[in-house]
Amino acid sequence: MSHTQTHHAYWDEQQLTSLIDALVARGWYAGETFLDAGLCQELHAELTRLEARQQLQEAAIGRGDERTLRRDIRGDAIHWLDRESLAQRRYLALMAELQQQINIALYLGLFEFEAHFAQYPPGAFYRKHYDSFRGRANRIVSTVLYLNPDWPEDGGGEMALYDEHDSEREVARVMPRAGTFVCFLADRIPHEVLPTRLPRTSIAGWFRRNASLGGLVDPAR
Ligand code: MN
Repeated sequence: MSHTQTHHAYWDEQQLTSLIDALVARGWYAGETFLDAGLCQELHAELTRLEARQQLQEAAIGRGDERTLRRDIRGDAIHWLDRESLAQRRYLALMAELQQQINIALYLGLFEFEAHFAQYPPGAFYRKHYDSFRGRANRIVSTVLYLNPDWPEDGGGEMALYDEHDSEREVARVMPRAGTFVCFLADRIPHEVLPTRLPRTSIAGWFRRNASLGGLVDPAR
Protein backbone atom coordinates (compact mmCIF):
# COMPACT_ATOMS: atom_id res chain seq x y z
CA MET A 1 0.00 0.00 0.00
CA SER A 2 3.00 2.28 0.46
CA HIS A 3 3.18 4.88 -2.26
CA THR A 4 6.85 5.65 -1.67
CA GLN A 5 10.05 3.67 -1.35
CA THR A 6 10.67 5.19 2.09
CA HIS A 7 12.17 2.78 4.59
CA HIS A 8 12.10 3.57 8.28
CA ALA A 9 14.70 2.02 10.53
CA TYR A 10 12.26 1.43 13.38
CA TRP A 11 8.67 2.02 12.33
CA ASP A 12 6.29 0.03 10.25
CA GLU A 13 5.03 2.28 7.42
CA GLN A 14 1.40 1.37 8.09
CA GLN A 15 1.69 2.12 11.82
CA LEU A 16 3.14 5.52 11.06
CA THR A 17 0.42 6.26 8.53
CA SER A 18 -2.40 5.42 10.92
CA LEU A 19 -0.75 7.37 13.74
CA ILE A 20 -0.33 10.50 11.67
CA ASP A 21 -3.80 10.22 10.08
CA ALA A 22 -5.37 10.01 13.56
CA LEU A 23 -3.33 12.93 14.85
CA VAL A 24 -4.57 15.06 11.94
CA ALA A 25 -8.20 13.90 12.07
CA ARG A 26 -8.92 14.06 15.80
CA GLY A 27 -5.78 15.19 17.62
CA TRP A 28 -4.89 11.87 19.24
CA TYR A 29 -3.78 8.31 18.56
CA ALA A 30 -3.72 5.15 20.70
CA GLY A 31 -2.36 1.80 19.54
CA GLU A 32 -1.99 -1.50 21.39
CA THR A 33 1.16 -3.61 21.12
CA PHE A 34 2.61 -0.76 19.14
CA LEU A 35 6.13 -1.21 20.42
CA ASP A 36 8.47 -4.18 20.58
CA ALA A 37 7.79 -6.34 23.67
CA GLY A 38 11.51 -6.89 24.34
CA LEU A 39 12.20 -3.16 24.42
CA CYS A 40 9.26 -2.60 26.76
CA GLN A 41 10.58 -5.32 29.10
CA GLU A 42 14.04 -3.72 29.18
CA LEU A 43 12.60 -0.29 29.92
CA HIS A 44 10.37 -1.75 32.63
CA ALA A 45 13.39 -3.50 34.21
CA GLU A 46 15.35 -0.25 34.13
CA LEU A 47 12.55 1.61 35.90
CA THR A 48 12.43 -1.14 38.54
CA ARG A 49 16.19 -0.72 39.11
CA LEU A 50 15.85 3.07 39.33
CA GLU A 51 13.14 2.66 41.94
CA ALA A 52 15.22 0.18 43.97
CA ARG A 53 18.10 2.69 44.00
CA GLN A 54 15.73 5.48 45.04
CA GLN A 55 16.43 7.39 41.83
CA LEU A 56 12.81 8.44 41.27
CA GLN A 57 11.61 11.87 42.40
CA GLU A 58 8.09 12.85 43.31
CA ALA A 59 6.66 14.78 40.38
CA ALA A 60 5.76 18.44 40.88
CA ILE A 61 3.25 20.59 39.05
CA GLY A 62 3.88 24.12 37.79
CA ARG A 63 7.16 25.67 36.70
CA GLY A 64 9.77 27.94 38.20
CA ASP A 65 8.56 29.68 41.37
CA GLU A 66 5.19 27.96 40.97
CA ARG A 67 6.56 24.42 41.31
CA THR A 68 4.82 22.51 44.04
CA LEU A 69 4.02 18.95 45.13
CA ARG A 70 0.28 18.31 45.04
CA ARG A 71 -0.61 14.71 45.80
CA ASP A 72 -4.28 15.65 45.38
CA ILE A 73 -3.58 16.50 41.71
CA ARG A 74 -0.65 14.33 40.67
CA GLY A 75 0.80 11.27 42.41
CA ASP A 76 3.59 9.86 40.26
CA ALA A 77 7.37 9.67 40.74
CA ILE A 78 9.67 10.29 37.77
CA HIS A 79 13.18 9.94 36.34
CA TRP A 80 14.17 11.91 33.24
CA LEU A 81 15.62 9.88 30.37
CA ASP A 82 19.34 10.58 30.14
CA ARG A 83 20.55 8.06 27.50
CA GLU A 84 22.12 5.97 30.27
CA SER A 85 21.03 2.62 28.83
CA LEU A 86 20.83 0.96 25.44
CA ALA A 87 17.05 0.56 25.95
CA GLN A 88 16.67 4.32 26.47
CA ARG A 89 18.77 5.07 23.40
CA ARG A 90 16.66 2.68 21.32
CA TYR A 91 13.46 4.32 22.50
CA LEU A 92 14.83 7.80 21.82
CA ALA A 93 15.89 6.70 18.32
CA LEU A 94 12.31 5.56 17.69
CA MET A 95 11.00 8.92 18.86
CA ALA A 96 13.53 10.79 16.71
CA GLU A 97 12.22 8.97 13.66
CA LEU A 98 8.62 9.70 14.67
CA GLN A 99 9.51 13.37 15.12
CA GLN A 100 10.90 13.49 11.60
CA GLN A 101 7.78 11.85 10.14
CA ILE A 102 5.39 14.15 12.03
CA ASN A 103 7.35 17.15 10.77
CA ILE A 104 7.17 15.93 7.19
CA ALA A 105 3.41 15.29 7.42
CA LEU A 106 2.24 18.14 9.65
CA TYR A 107 4.87 20.89 9.37
CA LEU A 108 4.89 21.23 13.16
CA GLY A 109 8.55 22.20 13.35
CA LEU A 110 9.23 19.77 16.18
CA PHE A 111 12.75 20.38 17.39
CA GLU A 112 13.50 18.06 20.28
CA PHE A 113 12.08 15.31 22.48
CA GLU A 114 12.16 15.12 26.27
CA ALA A 115 10.78 12.25 28.33
CA HIS A 116 10.69 10.73 31.78
CA PHE A 117 9.90 7.38 33.32
CA ALA A 118 6.79 7.62 35.49
CA GLN A 119 5.75 5.34 38.34
CA TYR A 120 2.29 5.67 39.92
CA PRO A 121 2.06 3.82 43.26
CA PRO A 122 -1.27 2.15 44.17
CA GLY A 123 -3.91 4.81 44.79
CA ALA A 124 -2.13 7.49 42.70
CA PHE A 125 -3.77 9.39 39.84
CA TYR A 126 -3.33 12.56 37.79
CA ARG A 127 -6.34 14.86 37.52
CA LYS A 128 -7.60 16.07 34.15
CA HIS A 129 -5.24 18.58 32.53
CA TYR A 130 -3.66 19.83 29.31
CA ASP A 131 0.08 19.41 28.75
CA SER A 132 0.50 22.95 27.42
CA PHE A 133 -1.32 26.25 27.03
CA ARG A 134 -3.11 26.69 23.75
CA GLY A 135 -1.30 28.90 21.29
CA ARG A 136 1.78 29.53 23.41
CA ALA A 137 3.20 26.09 23.86
CA ASN A 138 6.69 24.77 23.48
CA ARG A 139 5.39 21.25 24.02
CA ILE A 140 3.47 20.41 20.87
CA VAL A 141 2.89 16.65 20.82
CA SER A 142 2.64 14.49 23.95
CA THR A 143 3.53 10.79 23.97
CA VAL A 144 3.03 7.93 26.43
CA LEU A 145 4.45 4.42 26.23
CA TYR A 146 3.11 1.95 28.79
CA LEU A 147 5.44 -0.64 30.30
CA ASN A 148 3.18 -2.81 32.50
CA PRO A 149 3.19 -6.52 31.67
CA ASP A 150 -0.07 -8.44 32.25
CA TRP A 151 -2.25 -5.54 33.35
CA PRO A 152 -5.57 -6.96 34.66
CA GLU A 153 -8.95 -5.59 33.56
CA ASP A 154 -9.59 -4.32 37.10
CA GLY A 155 -6.11 -2.83 37.58
CA GLY A 156 -7.34 0.75 37.22
CA GLY A 157 -4.83 3.38 36.09
CA GLU A 158 -6.37 3.88 32.65
CA MET A 159 -5.70 7.11 30.79
CA ALA A 160 -8.91 8.87 29.80
CA LEU A 161 -8.74 11.18 26.78
CA TYR A 162 -11.37 13.87 26.21
CA ASP A 163 -12.73 15.54 23.12
CA GLU A 164 -10.82 18.52 21.76
CA HIS A 165 -14.05 20.57 21.59
CA ASP A 166 -15.86 19.19 24.65
CA SER A 167 -13.61 18.56 27.63
CA GLU A 168 -16.42 16.66 29.42
CA ARG A 169 -16.81 14.10 26.63
CA GLU A 170 -14.54 11.09 27.08
CA VAL A 171 -13.35 9.76 23.73
CA ALA A 172 -11.00 6.97 24.81
CA ARG A 173 -9.93 5.02 27.87
CA VAL A 174 -6.56 3.37 27.47
CA MET A 175 -5.35 0.41 29.53
CA PRO A 176 -1.69 0.92 30.52
CA ARG A 177 -0.50 -2.38 29.04
CA ALA A 178 3.09 -2.88 27.87
CA GLY A 179 3.53 -1.85 24.25
CA THR A 180 0.54 0.48 24.07
CA PHE A 181 1.56 3.87 22.70
CA VAL A 182 -0.49 7.06 22.83
CA CYS A 183 0.22 10.45 21.35
CA PHE A 184 -1.86 13.63 21.16
CA LEU A 185 -1.67 17.36 20.56
CA ALA A 186 -0.44 18.76 23.88
CA ASP A 187 -2.56 21.93 23.96
CA ARG A 188 -5.76 20.39 22.53
CA ILE A 189 -6.55 17.12 24.27
CA PRO A 190 -7.56 17.08 27.97
CA HIS A 191 -6.55 13.84 29.65
CA GLU A 192 -6.25 12.25 33.07
CA VAL A 193 -4.84 9.18 34.78
CA LEU A 194 -7.54 7.35 36.74
CA PRO A 195 -6.60 6.01 40.19
CA THR A 196 -4.45 2.93 39.84
CA ARG A 197 -4.82 -0.18 41.96
CA LEU A 198 -1.37 -1.56 41.08
CA PRO A 199 2.07 0.03 40.61
CA ARG A 200 1.79 1.59 37.15
CA THR A 201 4.75 2.39 34.90
CA SER A 202 5.13 4.39 31.70
CA ILE A 203 7.35 6.80 29.79
CA ALA A 204 5.79 10.21 29.22
CA GLY A 205 7.41 12.39 26.56
CA TRP A 206 6.96 15.62 24.63
CA PHE A 207 8.05 16.81 21.23
CA ARG A 208 8.94 20.45 21.59
CA ARG A 209 9.57 23.47 19.49
CA ASN A 210 12.76 25.36 20.22
CA ALA A 211 12.44 26.19 23.92
CA SER A 212 13.95 29.66 23.43
CA LEU A 213 11.06 30.81 21.22
CA GLY A 214 8.94 33.48 22.82
CA GLY A 215 10.38 33.10 26.31
CA LEU A 216 7.15 31.44 27.47
CA VAL A 217 6.88 28.69 30.05
CA ASP A 218 4.73 25.57 30.02
CA PRO A 219 2.40 24.38 32.78
CA ALA A 220 2.63 20.98 34.47
CA ARG A 221 2.76 17.93 32.28
MN1 MN B 1 -0.32 15.03 30.83
